[in-house]
Amino acid sequence: MKKTRTRALPVLLLTLAFFAGIAYFIFNLTIHASEWVSTPTNGHLSDNEGIELAGSVLDRNGVVLAYTEDGERKYNEDYATRCACLPVVGDSSVNNSTAVQTVYRSELSGYNFIFGLGLPDEFKSGKNITLTIDSKIQKAAYEALGNNKGAAVLYNYKTGETLCLASTPVYDPMNVPEDIETNDAYDGAYINRALSASYPPGSTFKLVTAAAALEYKDDIDSFEYDCNGADEIGGKPVTCYEPNGHVDLKEAMKTSCNIYFANVAVDLGKKQMTEQAKKMGFNQNWKLDGIVTGTSTYDVSQATENELGWSGVGQYSVMETPVNMAMISAAIASGGTPVKPFFVKNISGEFGIPTPDRTSSKAKEMMSKDISDRLSDMMRYCVEANYGDWSFGGSLKVCAKTGTAEVSDTGEDAHAWVTGFSLDEDCPFAFSVIVEHGNSGYRAAVPVAAAILEAAANSVRS
Ligand SMILES: [Zn+2]
Repeated sequence: MKKTRTRALPVLLLTLAFFAGIAYFIFNLTIHASEWVSTPTNGHLSDNEGIELAGSVLDRNGVVLAYTEDGERKYNEDYATRCACLPVVGDSSVNNSTAVQTVYRSELSGYNFIFGLGLPDEFKSGKNITLTIDSKIQKAAYEALGNNKGAAVLYNYKTGETLCLASTPVYDPMNVPEDIETNDAYDGAYINRALSASYPPGSTFKLVTAAAALEYKDDIDSFEYDCNGADEIGGKPVTCYEPNGHVDLKEAMKTSCNIYFANVAVDLGKKQMTEQAKKMGFNQNWKLDGIVTGTSTYDVSQATENELGWSGVGQYSVMETPVNMAMISAAIASGGTPVKPFFVKNISGEFGIPTPDRTSSKAKEMMSKDISDRLSDMMRYCVEANYGDWSFGGSLKVCAKTGTAEVSDTGEDAHAWVTGFSLDEDCPFAFSVIVEHGNSGYRAAVPVAAAILEAAANSVRS
């Protein structure tokens, strides 16, 4: 009897382990199956397979951006609209790894929990995806970026709905160019730079340094500096584009005085600069509609004193994604804690029944309300006293900061940035724009921001 019992115990344990394993597998299948099916590495869905039967992709106003007709995948009839929306919609391949036709491929092609993708074609029911993206604003960004490489983000900082997530270069998804892999004009055309690329932020990073100063530097309100255009920090030069004269924090933000902010960064030190940068989204990944974004990085662990100074003006090795830059402006616009942006409004359920619209959640606090109010005032002052309301189109009351980020020793080919937000109750938009090698934030990036802000105001108010 004893022998039987000792033999029965291992069998019982094995049986329990077996069922626990089955339960674990079913749990994961339930949660992740559609993700597994749609992963770009799933050979069953490579290239065009699956997409010919897929549902439609629509913008926030019901404009059809992609659909299937007679077994063929088609895109919006307007050339500029389908090019402009390519970074978000994708083409019929799986090359655009962050586009909805790649990420939501299984839903679009009629993935079914019971049968997977194994149902005969006539029984498959592809779901439709409605985006929060506005194709008119997307097109305005595409046209304003022109032949430049770059990105533009615009999102509602109250709801998190992303209206514009543009990136260039692009190509026509109906006629994919044959030389796409070899022609430099299409360099990085599969990447949505707004989400996945990171760049030196230049003077837009002064918002982070100013937030750190307001948080940690007790004497910041009495800290002033006479700028004659050049100084030495740590035995090496730090320079401004021109002498900025006598500046305090607010004037230094308006004139974008490098030496002022470099001194602030050195006074604060590596630890506090790094802490503030981390609070504001650096050195961490986050997800947007299930897509992991690129990483913004601030690492001064090996920096000399001079390099720490330059890091405070967004140079040295500092890197930032356009979407994180927009979130920083969103935080400043909304009392220090931004809502997370998203761009899929809803996905129709089984048999075309709509699911409820998605909503956003708040990200972590980036700064206190007192600090966000101070930065908001400074960014408004930059527009009023420096850039001019008219340069942002004039329809919205804009707060902004430009940046020109050097990428070579000669200072040529610098990246052009602008970030900011509108104060208007009916149009609460946070934005960021990067124009690669645009040479001047004000001359190259601000006109793109003006184009998307005007298009957004027109779209919302019409
Ligand atoms: Zn200066």
